[in-house]
Amino acid sequence: MSPIRGAVARCDTMEHGFDIFRHLIHYGCHLLVPLAFARLFGKDRWRGAAVIMLATMCIDLDHLMATPVFDAARCSIGFHPLHTLWAALVYLTLAAVPEWRVRAVSLGCLWHLATDFLDCLLGRL
Ligand SMILES: [Zn+2]
Repeated sequence: MSPIRGAVARCDTMEHGFDIFRHLIHYGCHLLVPLAFARLFGKDRWRGAAVIMLATMCIDLDHLMATPVFDAARCSIGFHPLHTLWAALVYLTLAAVPEWRVRAVSLGCLWHLATDFLDCLLGRL
């Protein structure tokens, strides 16, 4: 293999390794951090809070309105309706409702947006 091809192959391998790291961070934040939040803030009802926060992944259903439905290069923040600033303000407002289930929805949705935003930043590196 020529030195140039070897360098290109190493770059491809590094890029592939970074993509794996990026996906581990993204799905870890989507699936594991809500469990940690539920354990930290959910007290004796942490299991219910965890289920609710994991269920807030349903806001990704707004991807079905896009064409194409999935585009790895697209940042969902600001593009999909449930991933906009206006949606974030609604999620933030829900935190003021004195009901733990509604607050779990609020935290789950806000964390979801934060996770997707982090993924957008990592996608630009
Ligand atoms: Zn999302």
